[in-house]
Amino acid sequence: MTRTVVLVLAGTSEATELVGRLAGRENVDVVTSFAGRTTEPADLPGEVRTGGFGGVEGLAAVLAARPYDLLVDATHPFAARMPQVAAAAAAEAGVPRVRLLRPGWHPSPGDRWHRVRDLPAAAEELRRLRSRRVLLTTGRLDLAPFAGLAGVHLVTRSIEAPDPMPLPEATVVLARGPFDLGDELALLGEHRIDTLVTKDSGGTATAPKLEAARLLGLDVVVVDRPLPPPGPVVGTTAEALAWVDAHRPRP
Ligand code: NAP
Repeated sequence: MTRTVVLVLAGTSEATELVGRLAGRENVDVVTSFAGRTTEPADLPGEVRTGGFGGVEGLAAVLAARPYDLLVDATHPFAARMPQVAAAAAAEAGVPRVRLLRPGWHPSPGDRWHRVRDLPAAAEELRRLRSRRVLLTTGRLDLAPFAGLAGVHLVTRSIEAPDPMPLPEATVVLARGPFDLGDELALLGEHRIDTLVTKDSGGTATAPKLEAARLLGLDVVVVDRPLPPPGPVVGTTAEALAWVDAHRPRP
């Protein structure tokens, strides 16, 4: 079989798993690309590159130059720009592309969820709910929309410290998932949280906070995902592998 060169846009646990499994495939060369914002997994097989490509033109040129046969966009469900850039660049370079997007979360009986379309709407929802003690788990780069809330004690949780910190007053908790139910019950209890704010990131690593909020009867403001660009979407690593196999160039 001819060799297949696959570019994986990474930044998720699914991307890491996919790269591991692709590297085990015969006649597949896999290159993993990171934005360079977070610490990268140390032991990834294959080539690793870091940093932006320079928009649609830049990525299209990279795809055409090697040339790559396939592109898997396994960036985070809330990656704001990369999925659109990847779609346009792949179309320009004529390289088949798939979006690997893990399924979002769904409420269970007893949940007090309030779905909102974006972060400013989440801040608005906190006003409407008259929340007083709020845990923000939206990430250190997504705090600014909550800066104008008056009379609300905000607790932020992120892997790295917010820098700059856009909130005039907040308690900063630094922690890296995965978190278990016990961790989450303890955190929510310690800070006497009445409302949790989360993006609908999906997956298991940070899901126990939802169960903890349900058990404690807390309100949960859930920020909806941005829509993926038109084109094929798969939800699991196994489906992404099947897509790669189905789209490998034939001799
Ligand atoms: P973004 O808005 O979608 O991307 C901004 C720019 O960063 C892109 O236009 C691209 O630059 C570059 N970029 C993003 N992902 C890249 C990758 N895998 N390889 C090379 N360049 C990449 O993304 P973001 O929200 O800032 O997130 C950055 C990274 O962190 C993403 O890879 C994402 O998967 C991960 N992440 C994001 C979140 C979140 O909530 N947003 C959470 C966890 C992890 P050029 O246009 O110059 O190519």
